[in-house]
Amino acid sequence: MDKPPSPANAATATLLVTSGRNPHDHQGVVNPPVYHASTIIFPNLAEFEAAEHGTHPGPTYGRRGTETQRSLEATIAALNGGEETLALPSGLAAMVVTLLAFLERGDHALVTDAVYKPVRRLCNGMLQRMGIEVTYFDPTLDAAGLEQLFRPETKLVWAESPGSLTFEMSDIPAFAQICQKHRAKLAIDNTWATGLYFKAFDHGVDLVTEAATKYLVGHSDAMVGAVTARGDDMQRVRKVADELGYHIAPDDCYLALRGMRSLAARLPHHYATGLKLAEFLAARPEIKRVIHPARRDHPGHALWRRDYLGASGLFAAVLHPVAHEALAAFTDGLELFGMGYSWGGYESLVIPCRPAAIRTAVPWQDEGMLLRFHAGLEDIGDLTADLTAGFARMKAAG
Ligand SMILES: *Cc1c(COP(=O)(O)O)cnc(C)c1O
Repeated sequence: MDKPPSPANAATATLLVTSGRNPHDHQGVVNPPVYHASTIIFPNLAEFEAAEHGTHPGPTYGRRGTETQRSLEATIAALNGGEETLALPSGLAAMVVTLLAFLERGDHALVTDAVYKPVRRLCNGMLQRMGIEVTYFDPTLDAAGLEQLFRPETKLVWAESPGSLTFEMSDIPAFAQICQKHRAKLAIDNTWATGLYFKAFDHGVDLVTEAATKYLVGHSDAMVGAVTARGDDMQRVRKVADELGYHIAPDDCYLALRGMRSLAARLPHHYATGLKLAEFLAARPEIKRVIHPARRDHPGHALWRRDYLGASGLFAAVLHPVAHEALAAFTDGLELFGMGYSWGGYESLVIPCRPAAIRTAVPWQDEGMLLRFHAGLEDIGDLTADLTAGFARMKAAG
């Protein structure tokens, strides 16, 4: 591995195990119970009135979450080193709430050109209809480049570093300085690194959003999102989530919480296997280039080294152009790499895609298809054997 685990990481590993649970409140049971609830009965008028006035400290209604959800939120907050977390029914929901909380008619937002595609659809759809303008920026811009795009009405910068399809690295601390200077919020999608490998609040980020669906759940069986922020920012996020009526199911909170208990053991494994796969692919004649921030040949490697404590198992490789049948011959016979959306589970995945069709600020130059890989927890020898067989089928078909 390129980097040894840091002390900050060790502390987080313990918090992932200890946060959000207290067995002795629940007959000694290790995990917090799952409360299924809509109605919550108040024992007296005083407590009911506290709920009416928004001052009741405990659960008041199922939609607003019970202790099951609070346990998950406490654990995600601990992971991120932030003050407070709100759990939401999907990663995208967390991003919708964050953008709507800080942007209104007449405002302008700067959004990375590497942004997760459904967030771009939100920006070009609902936000635009609401009279909010978005400018997409080159994720590799420096502070001065980003500042040039600022307008008096710029209220928010949205970064995703690395981008989860094309893996450009952004200089988050530099962005944070510019945002502070112009009193704009810096929000990031931290799904790739998780709070284990990128301590967003230490780098000046205001709002951390993530698809807990990926590594936090970790087993491809639940949709969960989260926003983590401090003080007043969190009040605004909560208000919008409440207005929109978002609710996360308690069973999904439980699954995310259970996944997080082993995150500190799983993520280093994804990291190590991803790097080995990247190395294997870089040596293959079918591959034009591998895009992995933890490799020295990545243009953003110095930023990754400076700011990140590790890498996850998601990266890309660009193919030399091949016929469509040859691509199908490669993908369709794979036994260990599944072809499907999402990632972060225990299993390996690969999807082909063409970033050129999505980009607007920085044209995508590669002609060949991009393969996005997720390194799962399988044995590396079995994984490379699966890919070797795939490349042989590709050659025979092309
Ligand atoms: C999957 C993903 C999301 C959305 O999360 P869902 O839980 O699928 O809604 C957002 N950002 C990134 C980078 C993702 O990979």
